[in-house]
Amino acid sequence: MYPPTDRQLEFLKKLGYSGEPPISKQEASFLIDGRKAGKKAEALEKAMLKARSKAEASWFKDQRHYAKMEIQQARDSDGVIAGFIIRIGRTCDGAKRYHGAFLPTHVAMKNPKLLPPYEGICQYGKCECEYEEMLKDEKISMDTPMILGPNKITTIGKHRRSRHGCARTLLLLAFIAFIVYLVVRYMGS
Ligand SMILES: [Zn+2]
Repeated sequence: MYPPTDRQLEFLKKLGYSGEPPISKQEASFLIDGRKAGKKAEALEKAMLKARSKAEASWFKDQRHYAKMEIQQARDSDGVIAGFIIRIGRTCDGAKRYHGAFLPTHVAMKNPKLLPPYEGICQYGKCECEYEEMLKDEKISMDTPMILGPNKITTIGKHRRSRHGCARTLLLLAFIAFIVYLVVRYMGS
């Protein structure tokens, strides 16, 4: 989708249109043609907005479908695709917290809506959010944000440390269990 040109916008003003501005070349031509044909500005505005919300709904549906396919591909890659790196567009400030973040495949599988566009934030024709696959062997900085669920964000470094900590605890527990086993066996003999 291309934004309307300055010439189109100027021409529209001359044609007496001062309603909701068009967001695409296509919308601008629709308004211009309508005004030239003598249609009322209010009626044209209404028709444009109606068509826009229809286009927005189908855009959203397409994007969600696309995201699901990407997630499926990652799931079927046997771990080769570790997840996705998300970039938030300039106009989607409401989702800023996900900018540059890593979304692991298993988290995306449970929450496909963590891939953009985001409902209530990303707008049709304005959203520039995108994401790309991240491969297992790709280097990534430890302070990269990492998404663990909706609004649950940590960093890759912190996540790794907590996992190591967990492994250490398990090892310690196993060691204690082993000692207890030895003591019990010793006392029993
Ligand atoms: Zn967006």
